[in-house]
Amino acid sequence: MDKFGYMEKYGFEQLCFFHDKSTGLKAITSIHNTVLGPSLGGTRFWNYKDEEEAVEDVLRLARGMTYKSALAGLALGGGKSVIIGDPKILRKDPIKREAFWRAFGRYIEGLSGRYITAEDVGTSTQDMVYVNMETSHVVGLPGRSGDPSPFTALGVYKSMKACCQHIYGDNSLTGKTVAVQGVGNVGYYLCELLHKEGANIMVSDVSDERIQKCVDEFGVKVVGIDDIYRVDCDIYAPCALGATVNDATIPQFKCQIICGGANNQLKDPTVHGLALQSQGICYAPDYLANAGGVINVSYELAEGGYNQEASLRDVEFIYTRMLDILRISAETGQLTFQTADAMAEGRLEAVRNIKSILTKR
Ligand code: NAD
Repeated sequence: MDKFGYMEKYGFEQLCFFHDKSTGLKAITSIHNTVLGPSLGGTRFWNYKDEEEAVEDVLRLARGMTYKSALAGLALGGGKSVIIGDPKILRKDPIKREAFWRAFGRYIEGLSGRYITAEDVGTSTQDMVYVNMETSHVVGLPGRSGDPSPFTALGVYKSMKACCQHIYGDNSLTGKTVAVQGVGNVGYYLCELLHKEGANIMVSDVSDERIQKCVDEFGVKVVGIDDIYRVDCDIYAPCALGATVNDATIPQFKCQIICGGANNQLKDPTVHGLALQSQGICYAPDYLANAGGVINVSYELAEGGYNQEASLRDVEFIYTRMLDILRISAETGQLTFQTADAMAEGRLEAVRNIKSILTKR
């Protein structure tokens, strides 16, 4: 990969490598854009096949965070970190674990607040506690904003209601059939909200335990892993994996709306966005639908500290923003994700322009 070429093409600011010999820490941070504020994004700890794969992942994820925060109206930019290795090994050795995460914290401190980290796949709240011993540029700490998943689920639920308003002229989910793929953290809370509103819920998951919990608590109907795409439903809600909207699944869909919590739902945004549009399926751009978690965690940085009431108000505003995107897309014929991208880019551009005021060029 031509890294500088890629950074230039997509407007990246910084790509940093960090190594600590004593703990074996190998971390990469990408700061995509700090126009709206310091970059924020979690740290993913993953057994990457090689360095190249880790770099590609961190760049893609950091850029995604810029768009997510921009569209959510946050005064934050986009960044992300990845750590190369197997998180399981570290969990068995508490002494090494503390040193490892404190080394990472010192490195984050060295970025002087241009990047704020948080939990992500393979990392835990306790890891962030160690990071916090060395830097204040970390969010998602215990006793503060807490688990982001209920907020993410609330944003997805509000987005579904916006899609229903747009498609059916009524935002009620009562009696609507929703097929939820994956009932982990986000999917579970989503089912809870759907159940309260009287939706018919179908679920699939690879975990029998997680499925059983939803059967017991919400009376959901269970469908097979591969059947979730072809069930008769109004809404398909991907809450497990990325890229589930692809050449193989699109011809199977019977839904009218796709709206879920997973990241990067369209395998190829242009190709599959277009295919959905021509099939008359309304697609809720994923990074707006699932922005509730980052909105909530951003409140840890607010003056006066975390404020759940204000956070919930902002998460609920996803409804209005989603409605705007669906309306503009219908008026212009643009794909919904293109409208979302254009809005995010419009905000970035407007703020970038005012930053040159009173600045010597
Ligand atoms: P999770 O790991 O708690 O849940 C994922 C669930 O999907 C698990 O129950 C898993 O068993 C299930 N699953 C895995 N493969 C499956 C398959 N083939 N078919 C059906 N189910 C399958 O993760 P989560 O925190 O709930 O996040 C879900 C998605 O939402 C992820 O893509 C994540 O990146 C995204 N997301 C989460 C948050 C958040 O606040 N947690 C915020 C933004 C985006």
